[in-house]
Amino acid sequence: MSRHALISGASIAGPALALELARRGWRTTIVERAPKLRDEGQNVDVKGAGREVLRRLGLVDAVAAATTGERGLRFVDDEGRVLASFPVSETDIGTVEYEILRGELSRILVDRTSTVTDYRFDTRIEDLEDRGDRVVATLSDGETLSADVVAIAEGLRSSTRDLVLPDARIRELGMYCAYVTLPRTDTDDAWWNWHHALGRRSVHVRPDNLGTTRALLSFMTDVRGLETLDRADQATILRRTFADVGYAAPRILAALDDAPFYFDAIGQARLPRWSAGRAVVVGDAAGCASPISGMSTSIALVGAHVLGGELDRHDDHRTAVGAYESRVRPYVERAQRLTPGAPELGNPDTRLGRAGTLAFFRAMSHPLVSRAAGLLGRPSRPPADEIDLPADDAPTAAVTS
Ligand SMILES: Cc1cc2nc3c(=O)[nH]c(=O)nc-3n(C[C@H](O)[C@H](O)[C@H](O)COP(=O)(O)OP(=O)(O)OC[C@H]3O[C@@H](n4cnc5c(N)ncnc54)[C@H](O)[C@@H]3O)c2cc1C
Repeated sequence: MSRHALISGASIAGPALALELARRGWRTTIVERAPKLRDEGQNVDVKGAGREVLRRLGLVDAVAAATTGERGLRFVDDEGRVLASFPVSETDIGTVEYEILRGELSRILVDRTSTVTDYRFDTRIEDLEDRGDRVVATLSDGETLSADVVAIAEGLRSSTRDLVLPDARIRELGMYCAYVTLPRTDTDDAWWNWHHALGRRSVHVRPDNLGTTRALLSFMTDVRGLETLDRADQATILRRTFADVGYAAPRILAALDDAPFYFDAIGQARLPRWSAGRAVVVGDAAGCASPISGMSTSIALVGAHVLGGELDRHDDHRTAVGAYESRVRPYVERAQRLTPGAPELGNPDTRLGRAGTLAFFRAMSHPLVSRAAGLLGRPSRPPADEIDLPADDAPTAAVTS
């Protein structure tokens, strides 16, 4: 009989792991606490080894066809006037080749697995009992499910992880992000427009490929826990925080009550171990490096790929999860070493700070400076390629819908 994996979380790491296991003949079930596939958020980058995983999964064409078409990164002033531009063709700073909406990448992965994976939305794991030869999960709808392994792909603030790995720690970075999907207007263009509003606040407006516009308000504060407030309170805080800001802020604030909205506190996951018995963490739940790293989606794809392969290769789950962790953890830990000065660097406090941030981006967009910084152990970019993926031993197109 085929082995069964229960996976919690249907964003990137969860469906990617389902695809990896399904193409190796496993039975897969995914529980997701949201009532339907979540499509909020902005672009995510897929680069380095993450791109190689897409190739192995036969997803390159689907992803290439769903990129946002972003032309590059532009810094703008309070009136929207351009201060500096970094087109995608000239630099790796900012926009990369594969910029895809997080929701679109998730949809591609879920579509690929929809006929082979049992998706259960509005459902979560309430209890896990490791019985040695299998693990039994009690779900929020009262059902119990037996599995060979439970993979927790619930993101940075995973609650199921707390059941099995209570020593997981989150390193809070003191920055909040509110992602808002806006109706597209004639003035919206194909650039990632980034306005430093000073006072450690930023406004971002980016194109998408779905006829809408993706906005982001980010700000830094010492106050913790705002991500746990309800939406109305978060909207009130955003309105107060950005009340005096120009550029696109008034338009974004006006849309806060009704637009698709996702609010999160930025942080990194720090775990002394990635598994306990038959439960294992993957993606942001294992090693969130934060959106500042630009690496989280590549890490989710790489983690799912390596974990899927090792689980299938070894009958003993301890050997499998040990091999997975020892290969992927160094990659994650390097990605967690953020550019010195981040996240303050991206959210300057003063005019002088803003000039410093622009000077940094200008310098790092120069190939020689960027390489020199890397040689000094201070890379401008995280190590997207710095992992040896194991040879791929499964058919690419075994799973088709
Ligand atoms: C709605 C949303 C929007 C995002 N937008 C951006 C963005 O614009 N830019 C960016 O860089 N990153 C964004 N991210 C984070 C980004 O997706 C991840 O950093 C990266 O892709 C790794 O993905 P992941 O699958 O490991 O975790 P995540 O993408 O965080 O997904 C975790 C999934 O698990 C589900 N979940 C959480 N708890 C439970 C539970 N107890 N039971 C069942 N399901 C649970 C969540 O609803 C979510 O679907 C966003 C994440 C989400 C959920």
